[in-house]
Amino acid sequence: MSTHANTKMLSEADGYDLLRRFNVPAPLFEIATSPEAAAAAAAKIGYPVVMKIVSPQIIHKSDAGGVIVGIKTDEEAKTAYNTIVSSVKAYNPAAEITGIIVEEMAQPGLELIIGGKIDPAFGRVITFGLGGTLVEFHKDVGIRILPCTDEEIHSLIKQIKGYKLISGYRGDAPKDEEFLFQTLKNACEFFEKNDKVVEFDINPLRLYEKGGCAVDARVIVQDEPIELPPHYDASKIVPIDYYKPRSVAVIGASDDKTKMGYAVFHNLLQFPGKVYPVNNKRSEIQGVKCYPTLSAIPGPVDMVTITVPAQLVPGIMEECGQKGVKMAVVITAGFKEMDEDGRALENRMVEIAKNYGIRIVGPNCLGLILPPYKLDTTYVSTSPLPGDLAFISQSGAIVNAVVGISLSEGSEMGYSEVVSVGNQSDLDFLDYMSYAQRDPHTKAIILYIEEIKNGVAFMEMAKEITKTKPIVAIKAGSSQRGQAAAASHTGSLSGAYEVYMEAFRKCGVTPVKTLPGAFKVAKILSDANRSPKGRRAVVITNAGGFAVLSNDYAETWGIEIIDLPKEMIDEMNTFLPPFWNKNNPIDLLGDADEARFRGVFDVLCRNPELWDMAILVNFPNKVLSPEQIAHVLIDYSKKTDNLLIGTLVGGDCMKPGVSLLAQHNIPVFEELEFTYRTLGHLSWTADR
Ligand code: ADP
Ligand code: MG
Repeated sequence: MSTHANTKMLSEADGYDLLRRFNVPAPLFEIATSPEAAAAAAAKIGYPVVMKIVSPQIIHKSDAGGVIVGIKTDEEAKTAYNTIVSSVKAYNPAAEITGIIVEEMAQPGLELIIGGKIDPAFGRVITFGLGGTLVEFHKDVGIRILPCTDEEIHSLIKQIKGYKLISGYRGDAPKDEEFLFQTLKNACEFFEKNDKVVEFDINPLRLYEKGGCAVDARVIVQDEPIELPPHYDASKIVPIDYYKPRSVAVIGASDDKTKMGYAVFHNLLQFPGKVYPVNNKRSEIQGVKCYPTLSAIPGPVDMVTITVPAQLVPGIMEECGQKGVKMAVVITAGFKEMDEDGRALENRMVEIAKNYGIRIVGPNCLGLILPPYKLDTTYVSTSPLPGDLAFISQSGAIVNAVVGISLSEGSEMGYSEVVSVGNQSDLDFLDYMSYAQRDPHTKAIILYIEEIKNGVAFMEMAKEITKTKPIVAIKAGSSQRGQAAAASHTGSLSGAYEVYMEAFRKCGVTPVKTLPGAFKVAKILSDANRSPKGRRAVVITNAGGFAVLSNDYAETWGIEIIDLPKEMIDEMNTFLPPFWNKNNPIDLLGDADEARFRGVFDVLCRNPELWDMAILVNFPNKVLSPEQIAHVLIDYSKKTDNLLIGTLVGGDCMKPGVSLLAQHNIPVFEELEFTYRTLGHLSWTADR
């Protein structure tokens, strides 16, 4: 969206004309500029009519007393004209009144809204939901990012809570869903083909048992074509050898433990290639020969880590260029995140790097860690272990935290790539994701995102990556408070967060809310065949209390605890004691032994098409050890492709079972709500 373009609101009449060209039905209308003309127009159109104000300054006509419906006679039409004009004048004396639109009065029907806006990162977005004057009250809308497929439009219609009103509520005849689908499709086409439309809404669109009609149209255009976010450009991706330096120099390396340059150089000491400290005040740092400048280093330098103050960085970048450096990790802060001078400094640094073909990580970041290659350019207090997770974060603090967590007792977490993206002056989320995609060590990718600028390219790339490696994302800023109040009418119905969620859905990224959730979901998704195919769950437990809680948590997180078919119950009756609950959750009672559990799993595994996941919930007791219960799950997970999950609640005494399951790559939890929350996130992927 050009920031310099001027925008204006089209009149309702122009909006109708435009929509009609895309086969969106609208009422007949005429514009009147006197009471007499209004009456004449009404008689011509045929009573009853609706009259509304036409004024570029009045966006919400009803609020201004600018709408009168059900006008039946010439007299009423004349009076309505005067009433509207005086109400609007009272509402906003400065409003310029161009006339009154007299239009056919449409039949009552279900009032819906179709809207469109331009998202700065993801481009054109359409909104659909319950409309009319109560639209903000209902807040029942869904969105799609354009372009979208027919299936996406169908699922958009079905996704709103008010869908029941369309499909026929309490004996009401169903509304014309096919017409609605076609109209949404037409509205998408209208939006995509009019490259100056920045925002529009049809509110309401009245939907009938047969057909429908737009009875309001607000279209905002700008005077020049809209610039949409760019597509993914594979030619900009950094060659993998940039991440495989033979030598690394630290500019600002230090022997002073309180300096960043100390920790950075310390972490690099484990690197098997050459490492050079650069500092003009020392001859040796941490036992390694030190050089006064980069150019004084005798051999080639592929990568540098820069920790010196921001003002010095452009000069150092110049030196890097002379030396033939390929990649610069700029940890230093004080660039565009600070002020205008910082922004200028950052631009200069980027300009110089570009001239020499140097790629930049940061600035204002923690740096980059590639544990399988023992390359740690950051100042984290301890380097993480190598493993198969890529963690790409817009927060350096969160990187510090997850590295710390991964090294804590009982954690078996390791990383293939850990990066804090900083200001993304050059390399951005896409580059780090592309590294993870190509890196053979990476099995899953976790993103912590505050904002993505090139959303369209992000979706295109993520869609490719998720075909082979799962991406899990925490998007910060879901709260109303966290989201800047959106300026426009349609805009306020769906904030930026919802657009991200829709983008994730579209490209196969799984959103989660918390760090533990991210790790759990990434782990489960990265094990083959470990993602549920749907939301249908069977719960097997020996704990009545957890059976009740299971129902509660399942409902909260959208997991469907299915009714067991009669045949299954009959079969279970043959081996279970007569007093079992004959219901799902299956409560095998406190004295349940291994045989009861095995019996139930036998039945389930013979009927895999009836369910998507089975959740075993267990607590410490004398009849059954945690190891025994773990072995039940381990054995049966070999007999089904459906997801089996263990939840062993009871603290330390359950640990042997927990570790056994973890060793066999079976999802295991120690807290029941977390089980259902994680399954909720996982099934979100399955619905798509
Ligand atoms: P606003 O600018 O306040 O959104 P609208 O044009 O949407 O004004 O009119 C307000 C309400 O009046 C609509 O929600 C609809 O219920 C009713 N209305 C408007 N135009 C018509 C029409 N042509 N036929 C029937 N009802 C209408
Ligand atoms: Mg309206």
